[in-house]
Amino acid sequence: MSAVDLKESIYAVTLAELRERLVAAGQPAYRAAQVLEWVYAKRVEGFEAMSNLPAALRAVLAEGFIFHALEPVRVLGSEDTTRKYLFRLGDGALVESVLIPASPALYGEASDRRTLCVSTQVGCAYGCKFCASGLDGWSRNLTPGEIVGQILRVEKLSGERVSNLVFMGMGEPLANFKNLLIALEILNSPWGVGIGARRITLSTSGLAPQIRLLAEQSMQVRLAVSLHGARDEVRQQIMPVNRKYPLAELLDACEYYMERKKQRITFEYILIREVNDTLEDAAALVQVAQRVDAKVNCIPYNLVDGLDWVRPEESRQDAFMAVLKRAKVSATIRREKGHDISAACGQLRRQTLAAADPSAGGASEV
Ligand code: SAH
Ligand code: SF4
Repeated sequence: MSAVDLKESIYAVTLAELRERLVAAGQPAYRAAQVLEWVYAKRVEGFEAMSNLPAALRAVLAEGFIFHALEPVRVLGSEDTTRKYLFRLGDGALVESVLIPASPALYGEASDRRTLCVSTQVGCAYGCKFCASGLDGWSRNLTPGEIVGQILRVEKLSGERVSNLVFMGMGEPLANFKNLLIALEILNSPWGVGIGARRITLSTSGLAPQIRLLAEQSMQVRLAVSLHGARDEVRQQIMPVNRKYPLAELLDACEYYMERKKQRITFEYILIREVNDTLEDAAALVQVAQRVDAKVNCIPYNLVDGLDWVRPEESRQDAFMAVLKRAKVSATIRREKGHDISAACGQLRRQTLAAADPSAGGASEV
């Protein structure tokens, strides 16, 4: 590793921390806000551009911090569809971010909602049986700068502002809790990226203790729980995490979150044929959703290379949804187009790692 790599990313520092560090270095406190205004409001990528700072201060900053831009390796998709970005990190690891434009059917033609799906870890330790991200195990946590960097890089490359964030890329966000909280502060703050907390959704496979910790934070981020099974015997067959935190414990934590935050949780439920899609499963899901007054988001399973799971046929999906509707559970089913590229997170990275020819698969090189 070169000396430069040892410097801290400027995208990982909060206003309070920068202020403290500048004051300790004999600088006026107000300089911190000036620096971060250049970084986030003006989006410069070097200290030399910060023309209202004295040259000596710019030199001090350049000694301590680096503008760590993620390197785009592949981009899939086009301007008006879902776009998938594969980034190489400083150590060569690969992560994905997915930019999803507003669906006119859902939000109206005029909506300028752009949702970015971000990764929080390289790989994932939780090994859900249906998921591409967990197939190769866990390598490391992303740093706060690498999490924030995904948003900045995608905005720069696409020329578009991201309005909403979902932490549904590679990794388990709540297993990288400390870095996640720093990144969330930077993403949410007016001095940072400035995305409202209610436009940020964290998705977890159900780490009950961390859900409780999150409930105690002041930020009003939304929580989605990957349920995928409403009975322990079904859920633990596909999600090993259920053995550690069985449904009873998970639901207690969800209830706690809901009470502390006065906010409804969303349960994500992938429909996998003959695994969790029976009418009995739907009835169990009704019970669970009603207990914590959760919304339910059903998602027909996206095929993953090398895995045998498949999605149920539409008639079976409809029958499942009808049980939820009849019980007045607030439930939607996501049947977006573009599954070819918006398919489950973790897949683009696996394809790239596996392919001898990195341009295979219809990707555009950047
Ligand atoms: N680790 C977190 C967040 C990342 S996964 C979590 O598990 O919630 C984001 C969502 O994608 C989860 O609901 C996950 O279960 C879902 N997912 C994973 N593989 C999928 C696939 N092949 N098809 C559809 N959804 C999938
Ligand atoms: Fe990890 Fe989430 Fe995939 Fe499970 S679904 S392996 S927790 S990324």
